Amino acid sequence: MIIVMKQNSTKEELKEVVRRIGELGYHPHIIHGETRNVIGAVGDERGKSVLQSLDSLPGVESVVPILKPYKLASREVSPLPSIIDVGRGVQIGGDKVVVMAGPCAVESCEQILATARAVKEAGATVLRGGAFKPRTSPYSFQGLEEEGLKMLAEAREETGLPIVTEVVNPKDAEMVGCYADILQVGARNVQNFPLLKALGRLGKPVLLKRGMSTTIQEFLMSAEYILSEGNRQVILCERGVRTFETATRNTLDISAVPVLKEQTHLPVIIDPSHATGHARLVPAMCFAAIAAGADGLIVEVHPEPEKATSDGAQSLRPEAFSVMMTKLREFAKVTGRGL
Ligand code: PEP
Ligand code: MN
Repeated sequence: MIIVMKQNSTKEELKEVVRRIGELGYHPHIIHGETRNVIGAVGDERGKSVLQSLDSLPGVESVVPILKPYKLASREVSPLPSIIDVGRGVQIGGDKVVVMAGPCAVESCEQILATARAVKEAGATVLRGGAFKPRTSPYSFQGLEEEGLKMLAEAREETGLPIVTEVVNPKDAEMVGCYADILQVGARNVQNFPLLKALGRLGKPVLLKRGMSTTIQEFLMSAEYILSEGNRQVILCERGVRTFETATRNTLDISAVPVLKEQTHLPVIIDPSHATGHARLVPAMCFAAIAAGADGLIVEVHPEPEKATSDGAQSLRPEAFSVMMTKLREFAKVTGRGL
């Protein structure tokens, strides 16, 4: 249920509503709006009608049901777009299209530093790199784990770029959170509910990737797991879904951007690398993402793609990334946004 407060309601009245929501066994989530405050009361759907009694409290304008199954993620509760501050002056969901770039996996100090310098020079504002790699084969490179996180932190110190890196196991959430500015949940873990809850409690920005066969509603329900634990800092990422097509690694669902934008206030970004699986197709999908209204991109870049331990074929060389960024900057301007 959404409890809409009157425009001239007082802080004390809001506090009393919050207290009563808790007393009734629901979790209050206050959303401060420009003209009025609303409180989302979430919890067991079966007994929600008891919340209707709150409409007689002082300062309450109305009590209305949230129609969508995802409550806190929905535009019904928060009509305005959310802007996520990831530190070091970077905000996602605002006027600028944020470009995150870096290798699929952190392989060495030299590799991550060289990539970080190059992507920064080209205009990226977040550095990506996997230290825990959820690979299809148990025999493939699994990542440098904490050593890799230390290398990422070093690259951040040198370049000032905040870092996004994947966490696979809920047990590692706190440790990864000590290094990362944004914690990535990979496509394979989109419905790993213990992991989502752990990240909800951690309270750091989360980049949640859509699973390869996750509907948009299921995707938003996964976001809801994080939000319902009290963490509002969720960034959604469309990275291609599995279809009959084999010319590309996945099929980029570009329409997911405007659909998500209708349904949720959370920022939406696109991963053109995992979506296509081919470096040569990445620029076209970046243009498409910006045209569709995405808030950002996450792009794989490797100084020597032919030597990459993972995803070399879809990784851009720094020079190609730089050329693409110059063109994207012009293009973003046409759409009324900066890069
Ligand atoms: C990645 O970002 O390197 C990755 C493994 O992506 P996804 O989870 O989308 O496959
Ligand atoms: Mn990858």
